[in-house]
Amino acid sequence: MNVADSQRVDVGLKRLGLDEEKNIEDADIVVLNTCVVRQSAEDTATGLLGKLAKQKKRKSTFICVTGCMVESTTKTLAERFPQVDLWAKPQDTPKIIENIADFLDLSSDGCVENLIPEKSKFTEFVPIVQGCDKFCTFCVIPYRRGRETSKPMDQIFDEIKQLVDNGTKEVTLLGQNVDSYGHDLNPKMDLSDLMHNIHDISKLLRIRFLTSHPNDMSIKLINTIKDLPKVCKCINLPFQAGSNRILANMRRGYTRDQFLRKIDQIRNIIPDVTLTTDLIVGFPGETELDFLDSINLLKEVNFDKVHVAAYSERKGTFAFRQIEDDIPQKTKRERLNEVNKLQDTVQNNLNSKYLNKFYEVLIEGKNRDKYYGRTEGDKLVYVENLNETFIGQILKTRIIDFSPYSLIAEKN
Ligand code: SF4
Repeated sequence: MNVADSQRVDVGLKRLGLDEEKNIEDADIVVLNTCVVRQSAEDTATGLLGKLAKQKKRKSTFICVTGCMVESTTKTLAERFPQVDLWAKPQDTPKIIENIADFLDLSSDGCVENLIPEKSKFTEFVPIVQGCDKFCTFCVIPYRRGRETSKPMDQIFDEIKQLVDNGTKEVTLLGQNVDSYGHDLNPKMDLSDLMHNIHDISKLLRIRFLTSHPNDMSIKLINTIKDLPKVCKCINLPFQAGSNRILANMRRGYTRDQFLRKIDQIRNIIPDVTLTTDLIVGFPGETELDFLDSINLLKEVNFDKVHVAAYSERKGTFAFRQIEDDIPQKTKRERLNEVNKLQDTVQNNLNSKYLNKFYEVLIEGKNRDKYYGRTEGDKLVYVENLNETFIGQILKTRIIDFSPYSLIAEKN
């Protein structure tokens, strides 16, 4: 979400005629887009603000802070960081561009509307719904990004159409809870309606979406994912904990059995689906037995990827106020390692089934001399013997090797 927001700020600043400065110490304008989903990310941002205060004494620098750090605590932050010229809420891009234009004595006319890059990447993120109404006890997002607010469908269509006209082939529709898209619009609509709508954009080849909540993943949506050829059969469905007691304390709104039933429904409708998930280990009060419930759920489902994090306290959340963080760091680390070790085996087994089979891969770029892309199921694939000209193409490939994290292929 932050990458997509920063990209839009970048487009506006370039329209003002500004160039990117790679070295922050030489920049005249700094826009710091903050993430606060974990305390360590917020600490990095505040540390950088300390450095920028020194920079400002040395040379004139306009400092803007945006992203999730800017919400209810902004007044306190403004007192703490008087060096900041502008605090802008997430998505308040026009305000950022206009203030920077004023600072530089430029006109912002024509610089704040429709902030789509003139040369788009082959894969682009498109935020479609902001905020979250769920209030899980460990999560700060609803307090920082606010309640769910969906972008109108025609606006999203125009944005994606323009990205595609500028070269994009794959879009990822983004929301903290993307499946609840559209319930706040008038007339009401949903993610399934949006997928049908953008599916008509002729040169758009792939549609992805992130992140889902099990309670909002409807049968209608699962059927749409199955029926629409451009929608990638890949779903990230966070379960966060395998124990009913911990799920209740997290206020996730479902039980272990309900989550597993949802997985069954998805696999019955889309047998070749790729499933990934998010998991927290070491939530306050998590006993060895609770943790074992998470391990057993992982073994039962066999996810293609698990984004696992050790619980850390976030100021402002219910858990921070009401539940003592009583799991030692050492135990959290051990549980994290156990999940990663298990996933190495699970993913190795799953990836071994790709060997000698054929998959279409959208080539996205080059990393350490290797060209890479992803399958429809979001598998990372390194393809041998390619050159620059293949970037942006969908290639038919044969898988010749694998590891738990990626596949190696040759062009067919
Ligand atoms: S659904 Fe996701 S974004 Fe919303 S409160 Fe829960 S963890 Fe946070």
